[in-house]
Amino acid sequence: MINILRYEKNMEKDGITQEAQEKLFNSRVLVMGAGGLGSGVIMNLAALGVGQIKIIDGDIVEESNLNRQIIHKYKNIGRAKVISAKDWVQEFNPDVKVELDKIKINELNYFNIIQGYDIIVDCFDSYEDKYMLNEIAVRHKKVLIHGAIQGFRGQVTTIVPVKTGCLSCVMQKPRNFDKENYASISPVVNTISSLQALEAMKVITGEGEPLLNKILIFDGLKSEFKVLNYAKNIACEVCSVNEI
Ligand SMILES: [Zn+2]
Repeated sequence: MINILRYEKNMEKDGITQEAQEKLFNSRVLVMGAGGLGSGVIMNLAALGVGQIKIIDGDIVEESNLNRQIIHKYKNIGRAKVISAKDWVQEFNPDVKVELDKIKINELNYFNIIQGYDIIVDCFDSYEDKYMLNEIAVRHKKVLIHGAIQGFRGQVTTIVPVKTGCLSCVMQKPRNFDKENYASISPVVNTISSLQALEAMKVITGEGEPLLNKILIFDGLKSEFKVLNYAKNIACEVCSVNEI
């Protein structure tokens, strides 16, 4: 049973139905990364009332994270990000069950981590990891909510295997990844993470229109949002091979 009082503002005029709120409570979302994007995604999912969140991250909290990774407190510098994030969720909303794993995922260790979760939110910061996660999601038919930021710009899209194109359809995987350290600015990061959480909510509840075969591009300096359409690439090395 959901705590009606806690979520009543979700269900008032122009909000979601009680049935949708119950769907959120019965849902399980896997958040890959508890850094900048992960902070906002986890906080928003906990506020929305998602019943179970699994957090994966291999890093510890460092002082230089705190300009944008707003789930982590100063006192948690040196602690595992997954523990720090779990502590925040449990203090904020004890209704939410949190699973965690302090691990950096790779092609050899991911399998057990994704079991039982049908929605994965990509909160990784490197494109190398994002393309790996895209391949895993397509292979195992998991919905993948992609988000990325670079300085003042960011983007979001929702990838539903079979139904939509994948990250490699949107942007072909580069041969060499850009190793430049781009700025990560809190309001930009947290705009994108909020949009990712909103995508998860729409997928779970069936309300609204997720960004399927559409990518939302945000330019924080110009305060502009653009939505571009994309299509599944029938020659895509990831989704055209995996989905036959
Ligand atoms: Zn593809």
